[in-house]
Amino acid sequence: MNILRIINEELKKLEATKTYKYEVPLQSPQGGVVKVNGRKLIMLASNNYLGLSNHPVVKKAAIQGIKKYGYGVASVRFICGTQDIHLELEKKISKFIGTEDTILFSSCFAANEGFFASLTNEKLGFENYKDVIYSDRLNHASIIDGQRLCRPETTDKKIYNHADMNDLERLLAEDMDKNYRFKIIATDGVFSMEGDLAPLNEIVDLAKKYNAFVFVDDSHAVGVCGETGRGTPEAKGVFGKIDILTGTLGKAIGGAAGGYISGKKDMIKYLRQKSRPYTFSNSLPPAIIFGAMAAFDLLMKDKSIVKRLHKNTFYFRNEIKKLGFKIIEGEHPIVPIMLGEASIAQDMSNALMKAGVYIKGLWFPVVPKGEARLRAQISAALSKKDIDNALDAFERVGKKMKVI
Ligand SMILES: *Cc1c(COP(=O)(O)O)cnc(C)c1O
Repeated sequence: MNILRIINEELKKLEATKTYKYEVPLQSPQGGVVKVNGRKLIMLASNNYLGLSNHPVVKKAAIQGIKKYGYGVASVRFICGTQDIHLELEKKISKFIGTEDTILFSSCFAANEGFFASLTNEKLGFENYKDVIYSDRLNHASIIDGQRLCRPETTDKKIYNHADMNDLERLLAEDMDKNYRFKIIATDGVFSMEGDLAPLNEIVDLAKKYNAFVFVDDSHAVGVCGETGRGTPEAKGVFGKIDILTGTLGKAIGGAAGGYISGKKDMIKYLRQKSRPYTFSNSLPPAIIFGAMAAFDLLMKDKSIVKRLHKNTFYFRNEIKKLGFKIIEGEHPIVPIMLGEASIAQDMSNALMKAGVYIKGLWFPVVPKGEARLRAQISAALSKKDIDNALDAFERVGKKMKVI
């Protein structure tokens, strides 16, 4: 078999079905306004929710990190890759999100990959056992892959309909009499295609009722949701009540890299021993540790950054609706603008790009057929004028295409 010939067929298929992912190189730092092909574009597609990706305080801290602790550590954590600053950042994250302890990973993808199997694939004194994971249908790829590493002989995986608490309870009730060792409910805090928040208050209640354990990936929520940006648990009134929180430092918290798992002290101690992407992969570099610490410090000191994000989000959501666009209602800076047919979303994102707005469209198979959309992501980095200019472009393009 000729591998290259076969994969080339697949690549052609991706192009033909318009699912090929093209990369557009930025010629500037990430920000409210970026440069592409020599032109300035208003950025509505990044996860730079707080505008910290190019913040002077964060950049200065990262440079300090290199100056004081070097470029790299050239080791995993337990050999010689733990500097005092790694422990300091872990403490800071725990304090910010209200947990006992935190373990850092090179990414949240790695954190999620390293969580489930570290529990389910270990006997822990049980000769015969079975665990079960209940997973939201729209969970992030890294949660799905993390669960794929669990051995099917010892782990049952059950998918509940998106944010459907009746469906989740139906599954939990069915399993009442089965003798599962661990029951884990796994959900994103915020879902990236819809911008909706998981009903964590109800999930916590169900978990209590059925003696399950709650895992929440708060990547799109840490620094974003809740009055002080402490995430979905803050927004849903269950701060401090989630068993396991994972998250990324690659979105609101500076947008560079890094992820974490946070929870009870002994759980984190255990993960340091058993989680394979932690044990067998390099430690985060000092620049990132310092940058992330500066980002958390900024967030805790200066409440206006999160406030500005919420204000910008509220403003954009209202104004885009006033123009006549249909959006998925909510409170998150992810604002899906519903267009229906994939071709409309494709044409409209191209037209907006020409009109000075950087935005991405999503269509089948990423979202269901007939639910093609543009996904706007609002940021504290945007000025009121940037948002108004973007809205003007939406109005012009929308009218021309007869969408509004
Ligand atoms: C972005 C994201 C990740 C991946 O985070 P990285 O740190 O970039 O690996 C994981 N889970 C969710 C829900 C995300 O949105």
